[in-house]
Amino acid sequence: MMVILLGPPGAGKGTQAKIICQAKELFDFSTGDILRNEVKKKSNIGKKIESIINSGKLVSDDIILDIVEKIIIDESSKNKGILFDGFPRNIDQANSFEKLLKKKEKKINLVLHLLIEKDEIIKRIQKRQSEENREDDTIEVLKSRIDVYLQETTPLIELYKKQGLLKKLNGMQSIENVNNDMNKFLDEIN
Ligand code: AMP
Repeated sequence: MMVILLGPPGAGKGTQAKIICQAKELFDFSTGDILRNEVKKKSNIGKKIESIINSGKLVSDDIILDIVEKIIIDESSKNKGILFDGFPRNIDQANSFEKLLKKKEKKINLVLHLLIEKDEIIKRIQKRQSEENREDDTIEVLKSRIDVYLQETTPLIELYKKQGLLKKLNGMQSIENVNNDMNKFLDEIN
């Protein structure tokens, strides 16, 4: 099962991904977590991408697609599927992803779109910054991340809607209620 979580920063994608992946035995694949880990390790990739991540812009598609291909090869056989949190982030990534999945005889089964208002995003990111101290959780960088989301990522909503894969969820509810709503959609495709 290949599931994509779509939504702006602070929508609760990471929180929901953890709960779902544990319950449904999916691999929790957050491109953001993998990239932050590369920065922490000070690897060659990490050095290249640190300033990009800290500015809220997107890392180059080539770097991301290499990581994605490796994860699909390594993890699909070990789990019941993969939950993608933070990928694809633009139309080019979505097109390359589709080709890659076809090559591996796989397909996207579901896209869960978390909706949340801007005021709530700001509140949640400020709270997360006080807890996790992420460099890209400052108000200035958050503005850039929201702009990038609106310009580059939201066209995916239409793309997946057309393919009949998109399910909308109210991300302003409690963690438990969002999770219940997600489970209904996940159970439908099981
Ligand atoms: P996230 O944890 O998903 O909010 O991602 C944090 C940062 O990592 C983003 O602001 C981007 O700089 C980078 N990033 C994560 N996923 C991607 C992706 N699929 N394509 C490009 N950049 C990404």
